[in-house]
Amino acid sequence: MPKYQTVTREDLIKQIQDEELIWDLVVIGGGATGLGVALDSVARGYKTLLVEQSDFAKGTSSRSTKLVHGGVRYLAQGDLGLVREASVERGLLCRNAPHLVKNQTFIIPIYNYWDMLKYTMGLKVYDWISGKLTLGSSSFISRKKTIEALPGIKNVGLLGGVLYHDGQFDDSRLAVNLAQSILENGGCAINYMKVVSLLKDDDQNINGAVIQDAELGKKYPIQTKAVVNATGVFVYAIMKMDNSSSKKTICVSQGVHLVLDKKFYPSDHALMIPETSDGRVLFAVPWHNKVVVGTTDTLVEEATLEPHALEKEITFILETAASYLTEKPVRSDVLSVFAGLRPLAAPKEGDQKTKEISRSHKIIVSASKLFTILGGKWTTYRKMGEDVVDRIEKELNWKHKKTPTADMHIYGFAEAVNWNDPLYFYGSDTSKIRERMNGTANQWISNDLKIHKMQVEWAVQYELARTVEDVLSRRTRALLLDARESIRIAPQVAQIIAKELNKDEQWINDQVGAYTRLANHYILK
Ligand SMILES: Cc1cc2nc3c(=O)[nH]c(=O)nc-3n(C[C@H](O)[C@H](O)[C@H](O)COP(=O)(O)OP(=O)(O)OC[C@H]3O[C@@H](n4cnc5c(N)ncnc54)[C@H](O)[C@@H]3O)c2cc1C
Repeated sequence: MPKYQTVTREDLIKQIQDEELIWDLVVIGGGATGLGVALDSVARGYKTLLVEQSDFAKGTSSRSTKLVHGGVRYLAQGDLGLVREASVERGLLCRNAPHLVKNQTFIIPIYNYWDMLKYTMGLKVYDWISGKLTLGSSSFISRKKTIEALPGIKNVGLLGGVLYHDGQFDDSRLAVNLAQSILENGGCAINYMKVVSLLKDDDQNINGAVIQDAELGKKYPIQTKAVVNATGVFVYAIMKMDNSSSKKTICVSQGVHLVLDKKFYPSDHALMIPETSDGRVLFAVPWHNKVVVGTTDTLVEEATLEPHALEKEITFILETAASYLTEKPVRSDVLSVFAGLRPLAAPKEGDQKTKEISRSHKIIVSASKLFTILGGKWTTYRKMGEDVVDRIEKELNWKHKKTPTADMHIYGFAEAVNWNDPLYFYGSDTSKIRERMNGTANQWISNDLKIHKMQVEWAVQYELARTVEDVLSRRTRALLLDARESIRIAPQVAQIIAKELNKDEQWINDQVGAYTRLANHYILK
């Protein structure tokens, strides 16, 4: 296997084509969960393959609120175990990917004495739960300080605020870095490769899968000792592939976010409203020089890779945000709207409200030894990976190997991070990209979003990007930060990718057309 920096799609496919090769573990799904499982497996020394039918983090894992958090909401629900687990993982992620996870202060504005007591005390418990891995202490701050910290916040009846710390990150960049870590450690992680069926031995135990190259249509049978189903909201389809009478063990809840210009929320502190008019949580989080506001929690019937925001969700966020901010955003102010689907482990009694369904993860092992992982959150992806690999070792009688991932630096690890540098999220690659930019210093494709020609080339050469959408949605975050601007630059991006991948004019036109159709759904008309 060539050293990571020179790995191409062709190199990865060569490994898949090797019919003699028996993988220890094949992971289906390249979101947070699958990447966590594959990295854990590869770190323990198992021969590991991860296949993603679309791009890494194309699903829910690029559509989160971007928080690495213990979960203040779960504290309110009394789920201390989950808060402790997530708080520990938050601390580990800050340590292992400091180039992507920022220590973020949050402020809860307080309008009555009961909330003052409840949140001041509650957040002390939150601090205590994270122990040594705390990101800083919470405190009550005066009305004057709250208004200074949250300019524009509704001040009628404001008593003060409770300030606390959590993590804030870039979700799809972390996914790309996890894929790079898997490759760097000798594993294979490939996008645009879909599992279309599972293979079984004479005893009906799973011993392989057929995967299909989404670009060329070619199918490859592969052999493996274990298969993990980490397909988020799509787990049920894979469970049905294994056993057509599998029970549905998942429910799907949609969350929507709006992205606004910073002028609507010109603060470095994030705003947290623990209980909106209908009892949900609302965040306004500074992100890449914009502000992300969300989220909703609506049960939906169908899972799709490209979910669309519902009108009622958009209205709810705009109205709720307007009731806290003095400068009130309207539809035309929205730079981008994105929706994501939470894969929630279904409760036993089917009628629970989504915000009360536990976010903890669950592992299901089928009779033919398909390992399915459900639920969880981005913050706990590492622990989920560890739990799955532990379970596989146990179920398949493999000798237990301790995971080293708690202390393992993630690709891009860099200690000194300048958050004001528009290239900060490349971590240890930042200087290499900047070096390449010298000499082409003026080739910014988007001045507003600070996207340079060199970043597009880099994404194709080193980050396994294959399409305009991969570059504009997940290697850079243009689609989420300003969907109109991203459409404007799509033709230039397509030209650069075409040159790198040797594609023709027809490919460029198809790419620009497909991207424009997709990005139009992120614009509010
Ligand atoms: C609105 C919202 C906000 C959230 N905010 C936060 C937050 O701030 N912090 C936090 O910690 N968590 C957050 N979460 C939770 C977190 O985002 C999810 O738990 C996590 O991203 C789920 O990852 P996943 O890998 O399980 O699913 P996904 O990211 O959906 O990945 C599953 C992948 O499987 C692939 N796949 C499906 N079928 C196949 C097949 N046959 N072959 C190959 N690949 C296949 C899909 O293409 C997909 O990419 C949020 C979730 C939502 C919805």
